[in-house]
Amino acid sequence: MASIRVLFREAEIAARVEALAGEIVQAIPGDFVMVGLLKGAAFFVADLARALDRAGACPEIEFLRLSSYGLATASSGEVRLLGDLPSGIEGRRVLLIDDIVDTGRSIAFAAASLRERDIGDLWTCALLDKPQRREVEVRIDFIGFQIEDVFVAGYGVDHAEKYRHLPYIGIVE
Ligand code: 5GP
Ligand code: MG
Ligand code: MG
Repeated sequence: MASIRVLFREAEIAARVEALAGEIVQAIPGDFVMVGLLKGAAFFVADLARALDRAGACPEIEFLRLSSYGLATASSGEVRLLGDLPSGIEGRRVLLIDDIVDTGRSIAFAAASLRERDIGDLWTCALLDKPQRREVEVRIDFIGFQIEDVFVAGYGVDHAEKYRHLPYIGIVE
């Protein structure tokens, strides 16, 4: 059993999510669709959506599921789309949301898939960013926290499918 050392407490995450929602409504006036990447971003999307409501936005919510990591703690480098893109996304303004941007492959792949469908403007958002690990250049418009090259879990993010339920984010040791 791994041990988890707390990196961001529940209250710190909540405060950052609230601030992020403020940044997003400033940058994206009007209608947009949140497209979250499952499963890791599910909790973040749910909390961010409610913070966006408090900030005055009224986003729609969709999810995409990608595969790449499996049970490993390092990216396999290959990303696939499991299932289809949301129907009716053409022409819509999209806020693409992931839990963590590491090499950048997942969010770059999801962004490219959405662009192939002729969406309107696209913004990207990640709760956690590991800039040191980047292998693919990708613009992240809204970032919750930048972190070092550590392996984290909690708040929707798993370690071999465990720890998603934790209300905080911790380093897996
Ligand atoms: P990328 O494609 O940018 O290399 O990896 C992004 C995905 O890898 C994230 O959405 C997340 O699912 C997973 N990932 C990256 N870093 C971590 C980490 O520290 N912990 C966990 N559990 N998953 C990670
Ligand atoms: Mg992910
Ligand atoms: Mg995972």
